[in-house]
Amino acid sequence: MTRHFLPSLLLILALSASAQEPARMNALVNTLMKRMTLDEKLGQLNLLTDGGAVPTGSVVNDNVEKKILEGKVGGLFAVTGVAKIRRAQELAMKSRLKIPLIFGLDIIHGYRTTFPIPLALASSWDMELIEKSARTASLEATADGLNWTFSPMVDISRDPRWGRVAEGAGEDPFLGSQIARAMVKGYQGRNLADKTTMMACVKHFALYGAAEAGRDYNTTDMSRLRMFETYLPPYKAAIDAGAGSIMSSFNDVDGIPATANKYLMTELLRKQWSFTGFVVTDYTAINEMTDHGLGDLKTVSARALDAGIDMDMVGEGFLTTLKQSLQEGKITQKQIDDACRRILEAKYKLGLFTDPFLYCDANRAANEILTPDKKAVARELAAHAMVLLKNDNNLLPLHKKGTIALIGPMVDNQTDMLGTWAVGGSPNRAVTVLAGIQRAVGNSATILYARGANISDDTVLVRNASVFGKKLDVGSPEQQLQQALETAAKADVIVAVVGESSEMTGEAASRSNINLPESQTKLLEALAKTNKPMVVVLMTGRPLAIVKESGLANALLLSWFGGDESGNALADVLFGSYNPAGKLPITFPRNVGQIPIYYGFKKTGRPQPNGPTQKYRSNYLDVGNDPLYPFGFGLSYTSFSYSDIRLSSDAIMKGQPLKATVTVTNIGQHDGEEVVQYYISDPVASIVQPVKKLVGFQKLFLKKGESREVSFSITEDDLKFYNTELKRVIEPGEFVVFIGTSSENNKKASFILK
Ligand code: BGC
Repeated sequence: MTRHFLPSLLLILALSASAQEPARMNALVNTLMKRMTLDEKLGQLNLLTDGGAVPTGSVVNDNVEKKILEGKVGGLFAVTGVAKIRRAQELAMKSRLKIPLIFGLDIIHGYRTTFPIPLALASSWDMELIEKSARTASLEATADGLNWTFSPMVDISRDPRWGRVAEGAGEDPFLGSQIARAMVKGYQGRNLADKTTMMACVKHFALYGAAEAGRDYNTTDMSRLRMFETYLPPYKAAIDAGAGSIMSSFNDVDGIPATANKYLMTELLRKQWSFTGFVVTDYTAINEMTDHGLGDLKTVSARALDAGIDMDMVGEGFLTTLKQSLQEGKITQKQIDDACRRILEAKYKLGLFTDPFLYCDANRAANEILTPDKKAVARELAAHAMVLLKNDNNLLPLHKKGTIALIGPMVDNQTDMLGTWAVGGSPNRAVTVLAGIQRAVGNSATILYARGANISDDTVLVRNASVFGKKLDVGSPEQQLQQALETAAKADVIVAVVGESSEMTGEAASRSNINLPESQTKLLEALAKTNKPMVVVLMTGRPLAIVKESGLANALLLSWFGGDESGNALADVLFGSYNPAGKLPITFPRNVGQIPIYYGFKKTGRPQPNGPTQKYRSNYLDVGNDPLYPFGFGLSYTSFSYSDIRLSSDAIMKGQPLKATVTVTNIGQHDGEEVVQYYISDPVASIVQPVKKLVGFQKLFLKKGESREVSFSITEDDLKFYNTELKRVIEPGEFVVFIGTSSENNKKASFILK
């Protein structure tokens, strides 16, 4: 039975309402706001945490319970579990107006059941699966009392030094936009008031992924053109998909921190994009503007509200200073009312005014968390996220026979399977590579194991990447290497599982050197000298500069951080019960000096032709311009051939899309999936254009020997670009369409726009 706590008039309004009925929502919110004092309104703008999860800033709040009772809190985050959440909501129901709280958390890649990191999920290029990952996370998190997730993180990044590339979808605005949309749909479903859906919070608005030098929280600076072309599309896509909230970023944009940036928060978000949800700051982002040099807490809080921020995460600047700023005429009552209204509307949409305990169902908590079906999703996702980068002489898939040596610091390592931001997860649940492979082979093959190396022997790196308590350097390098060689000597094939520790990517985990830690490179060098066939499995949260390591490997499989089911999914892929089909959503550079490196680079006046480096061309003396592995690249155990492109016409007419068709054939020895990618290039335009840009893709499954026609409809929209007035325009002339298996390997054809 539903319990009701609202005053009776409000209750009637709430009960007769549905989330699709804005008039009723307005009536309820209007009635409520008429009764609210200024303090109560400011209370709604206040988001607190009691420090239940990892605090990513220096502050956690005190007197949280008292503040809830006094109506000084709009929401809580990092409080989990039905019992705790119910207790907090009961306190809110004892406040004067009984306005329910919302409960948020960073549910980034799964909740209790942990999925692969977002960059890995992006590698699947599978929108249905990505939506399913968000849907499954939502089912689990709402069963535990939560109704708001600080996800999706849609920051485009072209800088793998930045530790947070792990949390996003990579370098491309088109792919990033598709993923943003799928995530929002997955979390929010069709009805936010359904108790199994939760509100998404798109972050970090804006340009956070362009932090200079890849250093977290650093400044960003770029032209408006670049913002619109590359960085803004995924935020816009998420908003168009109906995301209920958005989070401001830490960085400044055009000299003004995003959290006080009126252009971003009002002009762009509200006026141009018609966003009607609410904006929350990042963790203490208002307070941090004093360190940006913008003034004291009162000043920066007023600036944030004035810019268009609605909710203050943790910092309590809104709560403690806005009243005075109002009296001083620095902000207006309307600004406070607008912010308060948006937060009340969000609560209404979540169904909380009808039932504040909608998400507090102990039965669901007992029956819907960590269930086998969610585990199965985790395993499916982890397998689909892997990218096969090299497979000489079809070394993979392996046969379940003979002796297989598993070597490396990631083999028997639960701690590092989950990757960054697994706040609802537990490493204790992670299936290690050793366990997964042992289970898969049973008695059919002999499995040997040696750790072989520490994750790193670099004491500075180890110290800085062990903040959450895990020691990385566990043994003598020499002894471990010796054992590894002895183990390898007994084996028919080596599977070396190497990579970064979880803490080497994620927030505040930038690296200036993106090599595999030297300890592990040495291990691979020594193993390669045994001349045994060697599969290298790479676990990482970012592209690494692995020219040497990929040369040593006979097969190279990028597994990223796979989550709870890492070991099982890896066994599925290594032994071929799942044929890998992932494609890179971000370029792998040859070395750190090539960064930023991405496929859609702008044409220069002095392009470097194919072949050796030439003087007075845009290039380097010491390395080519080409990446180690390009965007969109990924192999399969089978291979696919592409026919030439057939165009339905050699010209595109206004309002009449052109059809580009290829025949894709599975010409290898296995059934498999292929991501067919479609790029456009505009050879002559009034603004310098990228060499090509992704505008479509389709993932298909082809049985061995099977052919399929794949068609893309080329629309005028695909041919548009931003001009200097930031308008999307289309210019007549020749266009080139590329269709193929990666950003570098494709068929091409051209047509005219008349
Ligand atoms: C991060 C956000 C996160 C927030 C709350 C911040 O430090 O930048 O991504 O949502 O903490 O945990």
